[in-house]
Amino acid sequence: MDLDTRTIMVMFSMLTFMFFGLLELAGLHVGSIRGVRQWAVANLCISLGLSLAYFYTSPTPGHNWAIVLGAMLIAAGIGLQFTGIQAFKEERSDWRIVLLVVCVALFQNLWFGVLHPDISARAIANSFLFCVIYAACARALLINIEPPLRTAYWFTGVSFVVLVVVMLVRGVVIWRSLPESYGIYVNTPLNPLSFFIACMIQLCVTFGFLLMLNYRLITDLQNIASRDALTGALNRRCLEEEATRLKARCTRTGEILAVMMIDIDHFKSINDRYGHPVGDNVLRCLADIAHTSVRTDDYFARYGGEEFCILLPSTTEREAWELAERLRQTYAQSTLNAGEESINITVSIGVADSTSIGLEFTSLVAAADQALYRAKQEGRNRVVSYTSMS
Ligand code: GH3
Ligand code: MG
Ligand code: MG
Repeated sequence: MDLDTRTIMVMFSMLTFMFFGLLELAGLHVGSIRGVRQWAVANLCISLGLSLAYFYTSPTPGHNWAIVLGAMLIAAGIGLQFTGIQAFKEERSDWRIVLLVVCVALFQNLWFGVLHPDISARAIANSFLFCVIYAACARALLINIEPPLRTAYWFTGVSFVVLVVVMLVRGVVIWRSLPESYGIYVNTPLNPLSFFIACMIQLCVTFGFLLMLNYRLITDLQNIASRDALTGALNRRCLEEEATRLKARCTRTGEILAVMMIDIDHFKSINDRYGHPVGDNVLRCLADIAHTSVRTDDYFARYGGEEFCILLPSTTEREAWELAERLRQTYAQSTLNAGEESINITVSIGVADSTSIGLEFTSLVAAADQALYRAKQEGRNRVVSYTSMS
């Protein structure tokens, strides 16, 4: 292959430097998302490391230091990519890994580059070191990943797997077949080819990081747009969208859809007596209990003020009533601290299902609301079903 290794290194050094700038700029507007700055600095390290390797021409003592420092910077860069992935996944960044790979890179390049110069052994050792860090990055990206970001994680993770293979093949080829004549700039197809592929895939890794960031921002934005900021419950707009989707599903499958309306009793007097922050805490507490009580395919939403709504697919009015009764009892038994005092909250709940009302969301909510109104009339802290009223 007619590729010049030094040209590839210069090109790639410049490209990674540009990606350092790009990731730095992207990191300015990512809010609480972590890891992006580490990826930016990782690119800077790799860029500087490659530019140092440019000065390396022959195993003369002065130039050997350039390759020692270059290898350390590249190892630090890949290590930072790994800690950046940990940070992005909301895990604690393990800085000891960066320190460890830099120390190993220093030791093996010092040993084979300066103290006992052996270019082949140094290249093999570096290939295997990079291979191990790349494998750690691939593992962090391909195992235990959340569904909304899966595609972006896979893209980046598979890029790291390719880098693992390239480094492994490079190490093995130098080990098995090029012990005498090897050097970074010797005229063998291995160097330009492996550097070229590694550089291209390293670019894919950076694209993968940007893709992960993009997916995360979209997911966060969707969450903000569909959830109530105070309680974390779905907001009314999202609930109505889900109701439309469920109506189509239930019409097709014949499933029964139940609705539950929950209203806190005498909430205004809690606000008046303890203040709004305590009232907010009561709302959060109610939402937390409901979140742990409903199934994953139920939809719990804040309908407005201190009123909550739960959409229960494949559920009859009777089953919804039983769940509502359990919820009511849990609330009645729980206490909340407000300064010196502890508050008991109770809720009134109305339930209805699509058997008698039909699948129209507004009709179901109206029926459950009527039942809720009856629960309030009958003295609060109770559950009433729509069909029991007639
Ligand atoms: P009832 O038992 O009949 O339901 O009486 P209630 O006092 O609970 O009902 P009412 O509708 O009179 O009062 C609801 C109160 O909820 C009034 C409003 O100030 C309060 N509220 C609505 N949204 C919020 C909120 O986000 N935070 C707080 N702290 N209070 C809120
Ligand atoms: Mg109320
Ligand atoms: Mg109310």
